[in-house]
Amino acid sequence: MVSASQEHEARVVDAAPKKLYINGQWRDAREGRVLNVHDPSTGSVLCTVADASPEDGRDALDAAQAAQKDFAAMPPRKRASILMRAFELMHERQDDLAMLMTLEMGKPLAEAAGEVAYAAEFFRHFAEEATRISGGYQTAPAGNARFVIRKEPVGPSLLITPWNFPLAMGTRKIGPAIAAGCTSVLKPAELTPLSMLALAQVLEDAGAPPGVVNIVVTSTAGQVMEPLIRSGIARKLSFTGSTPVGKKLLEQCADKVLRTSMELGGNAAFVVFEDADLDKAVEGAMLAKMRNSGEACTAANRMFIHRSVMHEFSEKLAQRMGQLKVGRGVDEGVQVGPMVDATQRDKVKELVDDAVGAGAKVVVGGEAGPGEGFFYQPTVLRDVPLQARMWNEEIFGPVAPLTPFDTETEVVDLVNDTEYGLVNYVYTNDLTRALRVAENIESGMVGLNQGVVSNPAAPFGGMKESGLGREGGDTGIDEFLETKYIGIAM
Ligand code: ADP
Repeated sequence: MVSASQEHEARVVDAAPKKLYINGQWRDAREGRVLNVHDPSTGSVLCTVADASPEDGRDALDAAQAAQKDFAAMPPRKRASILMRAFELMHERQDDLAMLMTLEMGKPLAEAAGEVAYAAEFFRHFAEEATRISGGYQTAPAGNARFVIRKEPVGPSLLITPWNFPLAMGTRKIGPAIAAGCTSVLKPAELTPLSMLALAQVLEDAGAPPGVVNIVVTSTAGQVMEPLIRSGIARKLSFTGSTPVGKKLLEQCADKVLRTSMELGGNAAFVVFEDADLDKAVEGAMLAKMRNSGEACTAANRMFIHRSVMHEFSEKLAQRMGQLKVGRGVDEGVQVGPMVDATQRDKVKELVDDAVGAGAKVVVGGEAGPGEGFFYQPTVLRDVPLQARMWNEEIFGPVAPLTPFDTETEVVDLVNDTEYGLVNYVYTNDLTRALRVAENIESGMVGLNQGVVSNPAAPFGGMKESGLGREGGDTGIDEFLETKYIGIAM
């Protein structure tokens, strides 16, 4: 018998758009290529999706260019209405969008539904920002002229998103682009194109004019995107992904001096001082580590625990991690889904084996499996030596490595001993220490006594090799705006 869940799974996959979305049209790739989308919890193929060639990419950018002038002239209130309607539609379609995301990416349904709401919130946030774009009127110091300062859309923008938050990483870019009056071409990760295509449907239904948002799915990202970056038509690249790819794209952007926003890798530390509330710290660690099964650039990658509370903290954390239910994200009560693919699962396995080989002790987990999909058990490792690879490489999986520290100075140095600077988490009940440590930490974001920092109303982004620019908050829209000054003789 087919269960209600199986019926829902089949229905959303069947109904999902599977073509490229270019100039308001749903169309096949010019060369008729398709790529397979997999369910990481079984390894089986869910469906095929049109796989764009460089010519399709060029069509998309041409459409964005053609739509740019009229879109920039659209009244801000109207642009805001498109975003607000898209926000509402995402909530109306929350269950189906969540199911689609779980099927292609693996995260449990409850988390997927949470991401749909989080992603929609970027649209509401930027709908509100669209009508608040301001400028200035100023007297020149010599008194003989006036300055009018005006914000204008940057122009056609290229947006590249990763697979770990298939919707939110898209709305975080599309939201400010639309609010600012920029048209765009978005390329989602090939592992998770269905969520983004479903979002294109939302935007079409919300009244986004043809060419304003174009979605190009491709298995040959470099070949499709590089000519667009170098075309001279695109004026901006907003990228979320790995640091090595981000660096390569920055080089390509130099050619035509594109504006760039780069959300790259992280290597977050999670620090628990001896005066912290340990239960709250464990709660925060579960979030900082296990949100998205650890597949997040914000995931706690290095946990530094004061030596005096190490035993108690590790026992409590191991107990919580050991109780988590692992399985297909669509199944009732599942809290941890599979890794997104075999490569990701094997990387996690390799890093754990390396740490154990270097002397780390497994408190709980430490194994791949079970089943056909790309699963890895929630794992706690203690006394991970600082030469273990996982201190320098993003684990991107459900593995919490703990190591003890003795002093504040020592731990701040350890936290900063990385080329990354996205986010760090600090647990302490000493206010002065909290602020001192937060100020001395080299990262764009700090979670003080909290395990999640992502919020559409706050500026998200990194220092050092974690990136350039900020998304969300009241500065996110600036990434898509140019400042023009008009000097007027008096
Ligand atoms: P991850 O490790 O999350 O897969 P990547 O940086 O490889 O990170 O991928 C993030 C996004 O960048 C994906 O959409 C991917 O297809 C895209 N991408 C990867 N390589 C390139 C490239 N050379 N040019 C443009 N986009 C790329």
